[in-house]
Amino acid sequence: MPEGDTIFRTARSLHKALAGHRATKFDTAYAHVARIDDEKPIAGRLIERCEAAGKHVLIAFEGDLILRTHMRMNGSWHLYRHGERWWRGPQAMRVRVDTADWVAVAFDVPVAEFVTPKQLASTDPVAALGPDLLKPDFDRDEAIRRVRAAGALPIAQALLDQRLVAGIGNVYKSEVLFLAAVHPDTPASAVPEDAMKRIMNLGRSLLAANVVEGTPAAIQTYRSLRRTDRRSDPSDSLWVYSRAGQPCRRCGTAISSKKMGLDARTTYWCQGCQNN
Ligand SMILES: [Zn+2]
Repeated sequence: MPEGDTIFRTARSLHKALAGHRATKFDTAYAHVARIDDEKPIAGRLIERCEAAGKHVLIAFEGDLILRTHMRMNGSWHLYRHGERWWRGPQAMRVRVDTADWVAVAFDVPVAEFVTPKQLASTDPVAALGPDLLKPDFDRDEAIRRVRAAGALPIAQALLDQRLVAGIGNVYKSEVLFLAAVHPDTPASAVPEDAMKRIMNLGRSLLAANVVEGTPAAIQTYRSLRRTDRRSDPSDSLWVYSRAGQPCRRCGTAISSKKMGLDARTTYWCQGCQNN
């Protein structure tokens, strides 16, 4: 699952390229999206803005039509110049929006649909998102309250539920819990208050560090972690994620891993540093 900062950067790139320009072409592999395009043609409409909302990318067209796409595990938006070779084949294309200068292509997005601003504010899943770690007005107390309300659910799974707190994906889930010294199996309601605050603060700073323009995410993560650690290899950007069996960078214990949750995503942790 892409992290909130990836979605945020995607939306910002789309906004820079597309907003304020008219769509010159629209194409989609989804019949229900094509039907809206048939009824209310998208080509010719002004693209008003592109923004991120949790794991959703929203593209607003004039006339109260918002294209909502959800990235899930493998979805992505790419920007190309006309005639430029696509990174994926056309069979992976789900939605395509052209302007005079750009071709924006959504590959493998499992969810794409048109909604109105009114629907977005009420019935849409976007409306149900928890406080967003990347928003300047992030409400930490509300995020902590929601995560605690998950009760016996392991904290590692609660942090992925975007209705509780929005922005954390599978990588930062493991990294944040390591840095906060909280075991991933700890019931959400049993995480001490100060640890919960650390989790939120760390999530916020990791995500914010990664939206700095023009710097690869891994390098940014590394720099933000580096303040507390004097490692020498800049390619080693993560503490525990994807490091099963390798020695912990702090205590040397072999990093543990296991699959958690219905979709069985892997969690990584250090039994030495996260033994509460
Ligand atoms: Zn350790």
